[in-house]
Amino acid sequence: MALNQAFLTSLREMFHPSQLLTDTADCWLYSYDNSRHRAVAEAVFFAKTTQDVQTLIKQCRQYHVPLTVRGRGTGTPGGAVPLQGGVVLSLDKMDRILLLDPQNRLMKVEAGIVTQTVQNAAYEKGFFWAPDPGSSAYCAVGGNIGYNAAGPRAVKYGATRDNVLGLTAVTGAGDIIHTGGYTTKSAVGYDLTRLLIGSEGTLAIVTEAILKLHALPQKKYAFRALYKNISAAIAVVIAIMSQPYLPSALEFLDKHALKLLGFDSGGAMLLIEIDEENAKKNILAACQHEELIDIHIAKSDKAREKLWKARRELSSALRMLSPYKINEDVIVPVTALPELLKTLDELSQKYDIPIVNFGHAGNGNIHVNLLAKEAPECLQEIFEAVIALRGTLSGEHGIGLEKKPFMPFALDQSAIAIMRGIKNVFDPDNILNPGKLF
Ligand SMILES: Cc1cc2nc3c(=O)[nH]c(=O)nc-3n(C[C@H](O)[C@H](O)[C@H](O)COP(=O)(O)OP(=O)(O)OC[C@H]3O[C@@H](n4cnc5c(N)ncnc54)[C@H](O)[C@@H]3O)c2cc1C
Repeated sequence: MALNQAFLTSLREMFHPSQLLTDTADCWLYSYDNSRHRAVAEAVFFAKTTQDVQTLIKQCRQYHVPLTVRGRGTGTPGGAVPLQGGVVLSLDKMDRILLLDPQNRLMKVEAGIVTQTVQNAAYEKGFFWAPDPGSSAYCAVGGNIGYNAAGPRAVKYGATRDNVLGLTAVTGAGDIIHTGGYTTKSAVGYDLTRLLIGSEGTLAIVTEAILKLHALPQKKYAFRALYKNISAAIAVVIAIMSQPYLPSALEFLDKHALKLLGFDSGGAMLLIEIDEENAKKNILAACQHEELIDIHIAKSDKAREKLWKARRELSSALRMLSPYKINEDVIVPVTALPELLKTLDELSQKYDIPIVNFGHAGNGNIHVNLLAKEAPECLQEIFEAVIALRGTLSGEHGIGLEKKPFMPFALDQSAIAIMRGIKNVFDPDNILNPGKLF
């Protein structure tokens, strides 16, 4: 679709030339994310301020131009792909820390900032921001907000939605709104902050965020526990989650994932991190099981980092096993994990598709990796099983394009209708990320 010349002319008159790319070769660079989808927009716009975003949205509205906001394009379900062309909005130039306030345990940032930059700045003051996706070094806070991203620490500290106090955003109608604020509690009307988080750029463009910080723990303990089989490892996950202390990470790896890390023996492993002294005794006791092979405690910070580095690199290592990978991130209550993993094993055999499972077991969030190019029937059965187990389609990666067809399985028709109504209020002309989610 060629863009309306009057639309482009108006943008050229209003903004510096460096803020607008229209060359097809440039636009190609913004046509994909970490999914298998690709679509080329006709223009890429770099906002420098919230007002820039507002002006752009008003122009897009006037000329009916689709607008897809992009973080750093590391998301997996295709949310940042400009499916219907139009303009890709990048907030790469909005990457400042606006306020770092340890006394109120918060930090205000522009949405284009890279997540690791946030962590580094918070660390300097003795704090951390809880969301820690494996992609932290190269994803943006705006993208974390778009998908309600999480990571291993979510078992104790929650996902993005639990760690953002307030937002500045521009709706699809072109209105600048401020949601939430600088306090950890409020009781003033609907919680628009939590609504916008996870909305995948379909309701409003987030330009600034007030992030909730936690104090760095005095000490962290990390260890790996190797078990003969999956049932033992998952029984231990349930035992850990049943005692009073939460680990700060509780990750599960099946035997295929173990092989990728160089382990030839063992049927499953748990990677556990604890960040409070009191929890150590209870959690180590919960790890005992007759099928336990051994427990290896990381004795130094360096050894602990090495353990997590291996876990972070698992996703990329999978590509060594197969050029094709369908990566799902289903979530079920932890007590349903045994049934889920049994079903996944049965489906792997039924469809003759290798399935590698690992993930954030403390949340019941398993990254299910089907080593196949396409597997629609198998996927359908996986999602049906997950929903029957009172789980849902995605724990942290989002819906985007990939899981859109399965939304009616996960949500009531009436809930979808309410969501569509909300979309219509925020974005009456359906210009923001059209074709996603529903
Ligand atoms: C190696 C690797 C490891 C990963 N590990 C994890 C993990 O442990 N946990 C986890 O949760 N995820 C993980 N992810 C996926 C994760 O969702 C993304 O890495 C990250 O949250 C997306 O950030 P991004 O800046 O790349 O966003 P993009 O992919 O660019 O965008 C994500 C979505 O947010 C929307 N969006 C972007 N910016 C804004 C904005 N300013 N306002 C409104 N909407 C916006 C986009 O339209 C899109 O729908 C991993 C990905 C990779 C590649």
